[in-house]
Amino acid sequence: MRHTSLFVSIASLLALTSGNAVAAEPASHPITPSAPWALELDDALSKPLVEQWYGTEVAQQWREIEPHWKDDTQLMTRDSFDEPMLAALGVGPVPAMNYEASPGVVFVAMDGVTLRPTCGNGDSAHSALNCTPLVSSEVTFPPFGAQAASEYQQLQAYYEPFNIVMTSGRPPDFVPYTMTVIGGSAAQAGLGGGVCGVANVACDGLKRNHVSLNFPQSCPGMAETAGQETAHNWGLEHTENQNDILYPFNNGGSKRFVDECMAISDATGNGITQCGYVHEVYCPAGMGEEQNSYQEMLGVFGPAEEDVTDPIIVSTFPEDGAVMDTNETFTVTANIEDDSRMVAVKWTWVDGLPDGTDSYTRCTNNVCDNDFVTGPSFVASEIAWDFVTFDNAPEGTYSFLLEVFDAYGNGTSQMVTIQVAEGGGSAEGGNDESGGGDTGATGDGPGGTAGEEGGTAGDAGADGADGDGGSGGCRTATPPASAAWMLGLLALIGIRRRRAA
Ligand SMILES: [Zn+2]
Repeated sequence: MRHTSLFVSIASLLALTSGNAVAAEPASHPITPSAPWALELDDALSKPLVEQWYGTEVAQQWREIEPHWKDDTQLMTRDSFDEPMLAALGVGPVPAMNYEASPGVVFVAMDGVTLRPTCGNGDSAHSALNCTPLVSSEVTFPPFGAQAASEYQQLQAYYEPFNIVMTSGRPPDFVPYTMTVIGGSAAQAGLGGGVCGVANVACDGLKRNHVSLNFPQSCPGMAETAGQETAHNWGLEHTENQNDILYPFNNGGSKRFVDECMAISDATGNGITQCGYVHEVYCPAGMGEEQNSYQEMLGVFGPAEEDVTDPIIVSTFPEDGAVMDTNETFTVTANIEDDSRMVAVKWTWVDGLPDGTDSYTRCTNNVCDNDFVTGPSFVASEIAWDFVTFDNAPEGTYSFLLEVFDAYGNGTSQMVTIQVAEGGGSAEGGNDESGGGDTGATGDGPGGTAGEEGGTAGDAGADGADGDGGSGGCRTATPPASAAWMLGLLALIGIRRRRAA
């Protein structure tokens, strides 16, 4: 549990705003005009995080704000949860402050990446879409090169206390992951010499698909730099403690996420503390101007865990092989369980797509036709993983692929094939209220898209750099360990498919 005592729960906040944000009867509309029988769900989980948390009125304001830079420092966007942004909307940070720690995925991109300044999906930054406001035009950052393995290991050591899953292989796009790019130079991002890395600050780790940059052609010490830049993405700001990963200068020392309240540093950046309302939870006496880096990381991710257990698709509705009636109305859905507070879920309509539709998907991480905006922390079994509603569908065979991963790369999948027949009469019955249930869904917060703000604390490499690359020693030739994701992918491919008889 984190900071719950200080703030009202999300559940009670939703109660206050219900009637608008969380409709009892999910609305829906045809996926395509030519097939009024196939309905896309417009339920609570398809709405942006801010709308789920703050209700329609605020969300409307939010939607009117196009992402743009304000005062050259702050990115104003619908997925920003920083303090000035919330103040501009006249709301407090309460909902952003109250969720259970949950595992996070970090993709260390060292093989070269091309990034664009816009995402095209309403997000201001998105790792899976290779977009970030840190670049102003399309930029290709080259591969890191020879030191990749040792720096990767050093970064892993920094994260070791926390429930962070690192990978050097890119996860599937419906898995929210923080991407930290190591490659190229500061000049490529329009930054001056001496800048080792750059990132946007997103308070409280709400945005789990952010992007940061690290420049090996400009600085040594890429593990140290990436440790800091990723932490900015999770809401940490600079401190004045030279041993802290969040010290604004790359000094090649022995660093860690320090477990004490430290003064926020104004040595670089614009001097505005963006996530004071989060820092204050861990360092009350600091009034928002002190930060405990270790405890904040713990608050976002929790302590390190091992997880080799696949998520479980408990059931689907209809079941695989079911025969449904042309006169029925039902929603294709699933019950899913996992032993951690994060799963990534994707439905794909495989056979029987409506005429005029090439594909239709619904998934987590804002990369599908319809979204599951679940937030950074949730219990899979409490979410209604509804895909599509059939309303008097024509006779035929329909199949849907359901894929599920947890943060550790454990995955499972199932193909669900059904028949719709005239008078088919369905043993498994059930109209509308499909099995998956209308669980309170939204519960703890949605995710996808949280904050992006701020300004790029340019981490000046400056002084530091005593030439040894920061992270001492160990230059093994071993490739970075990325096993979890790869194993997960292998596990997903080629198994557990059940076909209709
Ligand atoms: Zn920094």
